[in-house]
Amino acid sequence: MTTKPSASAGKARPDGVRVTAAKCVRCKKPVVARFRPFCSQRCSDLDLAGWLTSQYRIPTDEAPDGSEIDLPLDED
Ligand SMILES: [Zn+2]
Repeated sequence: MTTKPSASAGKARPDGVRVTAAKCVRCKKPVVARFRPFCSQRCSDLDLAGWLTSQYRIPTDEAPDGSEIDLPLDED
């Protein structure tokens, strides 16, 4: 019997998610290609929401759950 070693270069993720060398501009996690320059749709949405709210300053009576989008960006 012949045993073939599977010499696969790199790690193929089963979910097909491609991770790039870049880091998410929000949370510094590895960037996923389809969500560049973010790591996920979530970070993309949060960043967009942050820009919109800071640009247009939408007045609201509701207390925004800022804990999720108020991440420190100075982490190194
Ligand atoms: Zn992220």
